[in-house]
Amino acid sequence: MPESKKTKFIAWIKKTLSSFSRAVYPEGYTCYICGAELDEKHREYSLCEKCLKRLPYRHGTTCPKCGAYVEHMGECVHCRNVLLPYHKAYAPFEYTGSIRYMIVSYKDKGSPWLHPYISKFLIDYAKAMEITADYLVYVPSSESALKTRGFEHNKRIAVAVANALGMQLTEPLHRHVQSKDSHRLSRLERYENLAGSFQMREDYDKSLLIGKRILIIDDVMSSGATATTCAQILKNNGAKEINILTLART
Ligand SMILES: [Zn+2]
Ligand SMILES: [Zn+2]
Repeated sequence: MPESKKTKFIAWIKKTLSSFSRAVYPEGYTCYICGAELDEKHREYSLCEKCLKRLPYRHGTTCPKCGAYVEHMGECVHCRNVLLPYHKAYAPFEYTGSIRYMIVSYKDKGSPWLHPYISKFLIDYAKAMEITADYLVYVPSSESALKTRGFEHNKRIAVAVANALGMQLTEPLHRHVQSKDSHRLSRLERYENLAGSFQMREDYDKSLLIGKRILIIDDVMSSGATATTCAQILKNNGAKEINILTLART
């Protein structure tokens, strides 16, 4: 093969390989939201500077326990009247816009490779907020959701967070039935429906939880029923303090 053709061939292969890898593994190359090319600094987020700045960060005064927005500093009406089984619920984002798009894409729209980027937000946030724990627990999916999705979405995130923060992951919870369509239920029905679907794993050594500080990881917090249910189970089994960390809140 003449030298010039060989050079052309190598250049073509390199170009093809590069565009192929970008198509199959777009992470680290282009912004997941707007498609802009990413520099080294932004590759660990898979987002460009503009899209990072536009993320729906939570602002304003929030209840120091459940994290709901409040008009004046101090606990919200709900937390003043109900004894929550957890100490504090943290979330960096509103469940809207680009974060909602990334979470849905990660879980259900064929972009499971997004998990390091979703985890990175939680890791940065947990470091900034100085959140610590003895054990990290994730909210598990039901068996049918796991079958449909093909992977345990919260576990992937929890493993990354645990590794980055030097916490130990433990898996005490089991979600044993698929909850009914929660959108059709009242708040109380939703809570009862969820409460019935979580339990301790039968083979779990419960003594591990006694006197421990636990951080529960979930992707999205809406009514707080899931967090409350899971925290209550851990509390009933001896955990000393439980905090909740979700990526976003509705
Ligand atoms: Zn962008
Ligand atoms: Zn509250």
